[in-house]
Order: sequence, then structure tokens, then C-alpha cells
Amino acid sequence: MKDTTIHRMKQMEAVLDEYRYEHTLGVSYTAACLAMRYGADPKSAQLAGLLHDCAKCLSNTKRIKECEKYGIPITAIERKNPSLLHAKLGAVYARERYGVKEEAVLSAIRWHTTGRPAMTLLEQILFVADYMEPSRCRAIHLDEIRGLAFLDLDRATCMILEDTICYIQEKEMAMDEMTVKAWEYYSNQQRKKEEKK
Ligand code: FE
Ligand code: FE
Repeated sequence: MKDTTIHRMKQMEAVLDEYRYEHTLGVSYTAACLAMRYGADPKSAQLAGLLHDCAKCLSNTKRIKECEKYGIPITAIERKNPSLLHAKLGAVYARERYGVKEEAVLSAIRWHTTGRPAMTLLEQILFVADYMEPSRCRAIHLDEIRGLAFLDLDRATCMILEDTICYIQEKEMAMDEMTVKAWEYYSNQQRKKEEKK
């Protein structure tokens, strides 16, 4: 199978709407830059960025059907907010449809929406890149997070989780418990770092 960036871009352009495709390209090069900064593999970060939302432009009904087809367990929260499933399904699509074998890339896609405690470097890079890529414009603290991400990835992660939780609560959306667990982990880590100073 062809595995060039251009080929991947064409594959994504075919399944994403224009807005999502633009976002995807932004995540891809932002992730590659963060990888260069933090010593992860830029090619893996670029690939994870390109494919991370490959299951995003599906109706919720179709998304649930696809998850059932692939035997992906669906939690009560995901039933309430099936959009969350695009991360799990995206990882499966990346492997099954797009032939990605690299586990690090697949797990980055798997966890890009909620994050999780003790993320791998690539998971964290994708999580942060997804939030701050250039076409994002609505989140508060975006400018600060964009600068911070290149100075202190853990602090940027913590801030994103905090702002995400506030946003979900404000909008009264269904919250995945993994987001809260991730926030607990990264905020504890920040507290410990502060105490050591
Ligand atoms: Fe996503
Ligand atoms: Fe995304």
C-alpha cells in the first residue's frame, strides 16, 4: 500500500468535509512540529494527525452501527454523545481501512478526544495538536496554550483538560469519565512539580 503523506491526504479529503479536512491538515503539521520539539517521531505524529478524525464525518447512527460491526464496546456516555466514538472507531479504521500498523499511532488516535492519565508522548502530542491547530479559534486561552505547548507539554495538556471540562460542564454535554481521570492525573502532576520548587 502506498504510504506517502500526499496519498493519506487524498484519502482523508475523500471522507471528510472541507472544515474537517482543513482541521486535519492543521493537526497533522502541528503534531509534526511538536514531535520535533519533544523528540518524538515527526512522521508518526504527522500520520496520526492526518488520520485522527477519519471516523468523524459519519452520522451518529452510522457511527454506532460501525462500532457494533467491529465489536467496539459502547459506554452509556458514548450512547448519549456518539460523536465521542470517532476516536475508538478512528483507531479501528486506521488499522483496518488505512493499513496503519504502528501501535503508537493507533493509540494516539484512540485517545485524542478524551486524553487519559499518563499518556504516551505521541498521544499527548496529538491531543494537544488537536486542540490548538491554526484553524481552531473558539477556545479560551488558545494563544496561551499555543505558546505553552512548545515550552511545557504537560502544563499545556493540563490546561486543555481543565478548559475542556469547564466547556463541557457549561454546555451541559455528556462528559467522558476518562477526561476527568486525565485531568486529575495531570493536575496532580502539576501540583507535585510546584511543591518540589
Ligand atoms: Fe477528533
Ligand atoms: Fe480533531
